[in-house]
Amino acid sequence: MAEHDCIFCRIAKEEVPADIVHENEQIVAFRDINPQAPVHVVVIPRKHIASLAASSADDVALLGEILKAAKEVAEKLDIQASGYRVVNNCGPDAQQSVQHIHFHVLGGRRLGWPPG
Ligand code: AMP
Repeated sequence: MAEHDCIFCRIAKEEVPADIVHENEQIVAFRDINPQAPVHVVVIPRKHIASLAASSADDVALLGEILKAAKEVAEKLDIQASGYRVVNNCGPDAQQSVQHIHFHVLGGRRLGWPPG
């Protein structure tokens, strides 16, 4: 998919509105439009990478930045003590629906395990 067609690229460029809770040079984090928990934030790199499977060795530092941002989001939204889950859906069996790598940060309620 071309970047100009990618909804998350468009959010990162502020061409599409989103409730951005955290951002820096490399990362944008915004509230999920269809929240599955009281806190549900999607953390993305500004760089278009289709999925975790499509990432490469060149992206290792960026993947670390995504997890660092997930932690910062949890602190900012005050779920660091109660706990939270960071989820990446990769590919069809995981029902990845947006083909731009993203990590969900979910919290604010007791989460079930295992996931469906
Ligand atoms: P996944 O199913 O793991 O690919 O997650 C994609 C997530 O992006 C879903 O939870 C959607 O609700 C969310 N989403 C899709 N479009 C938007 C949007 N425009 N703004 C915020 N969240 C979105």
